[in-house]
Amino acid sequence: MRVGQPSARGFRGLRDTMPIRNQANPPHGGRLVDLLATGEEAKALRERAASLPVVRLSSRSLSDLELLSVGGYSPLEGFMTEADYRSVVADMRLASGVAWPMPVTLAVSGDEAGSVGEGQEIALADETGGVLAVLEVAEKYGYDRVLEARNVYRTEDESHPGVAAVYAQGEVLLGGRVRAFGLPKHDDFATYRLTPAQTRAEFARRGWRTIVGFQTRNPVHRAHEYIQKCALEVVDGLLLHPLVGDTKSDDIPADVRMRCYEVLLQNYYPADRVVLSVNPAAMRYAGPREAIFHALVRKNYGCTHFIVGRDHAGVGSYYGTFDAQQIFYEFEPGALGITPLMFDNTFFCRKCDEMASLKTCPHDGDARVTLSGTQVREMLKAGVAPPPEFSRPEVARILVEAMQERVTPHHAI
Ligand SMILES: [Zn+2]
Repeated sequence: MRVGQPSARGFRGLRDTMPIRNQANPPHGGRLVDLLATGEEAKALRERAASLPVVRLSSRSLSDLELLSVGGYSPLEGFMTEADYRSVVADMRLASGVAWPMPVTLAVSGDEAGSVGEGQEIALADETGGVLAVLEVAEKYGYDRVLEARNVYRTEDESHPGVAAVYAQGEVLLGGRVRAFGLPKHDDFATYRLTPAQTRAEFARRGWRTIVGFQTRNPVHRAHEYIQKCALEVVDGLLLHPLVGDTKSDDIPADVRMRCYEVLLQNYYPADRVVLSVNPAAMRYAGPREAIFHALVRKNYGCTHFIVGRDHAGVGSYYGTFDAQQIFYEFEPGALGITPLMFDNTFFCRKCDEMASLKTCPHDGDARVTLSGTQVREMLKAGVAPPPEFSRPEVARILVEAMQERVTPHHAI
């Protein structure tokens, strides 16, 4: 058969003569970083760490350490040095030119920095003092928090939660390579904590070539289910990848969300088309830049496509509705290596009598079942389930129960 000649089974000839790319997307920068030592190396590292000065990480930095360790932040091999940091803040690129939108830095107080010299090693510990990694401090440097806020978050307003976190952190950044010998301990979601190497292996096992990643820090309602299923019509599989690191206190807690995802997948998704795994990252609420960041991290987990909805990773009214989609066009084709799938507002339309979006439904607002986040919260607090056109009843039940438990003995969340 001639190469590329279509047959009843597709481009069979092409597949016979060309290597089949039957594994997930190559990692960002080309190689999946693995900073986690094992065996004798881990043992030696742990012993060395015992004699080093210890820096306890905030929960956000701990999330970063975990993602660095497992390669979720490939090609990063540690906390950013000054050249990378400045280039990322100014240009959304590492000093090497590789696209990268968010600083990944380790901020410490002046006192902590004073006791560490460049070229020295320090031990990185979790909040209880458990040491997990060694950082080779290549550089310590000062930085301009307001510039970071303005460029990365597009606002200097300290009431923005991501900006507030930058303003609250230490005034010196420590940059350098990390070697880890342990991952942060988690009591929850143990079976859902797949590393990028593990999701990639799972995709390969299932024979998926195209995988769409879905970032969420909310329960999945019908609108998001619809978007995911639109994507599933054209790709092999879905990585439902909820973020379970730090979020705002008024976001729905991760354990409740996980129960919602489980019941939704059991009842409404084909099991062989979805992988549910958690992303240990913390939310930064940086809107457009964080949308790029979320996409690149999912690329490292093996995704070829990534869903970007309205106001992705936004908070309040800091970002325009489509800013997080537009920003993808600021990169040259190929610079990101993952295809964004961009969606508009979706809803159930009573006249269409199906799920639809502003792109597909000609009817007016009266026909559409839409509820704001605030309206949904008020309904749940009052013990009222959102309508089935908005939420699957199994999901609504979990949310109502969870909200009642939280409202009754404590103040409203
Ligand atoms: Zn309609």
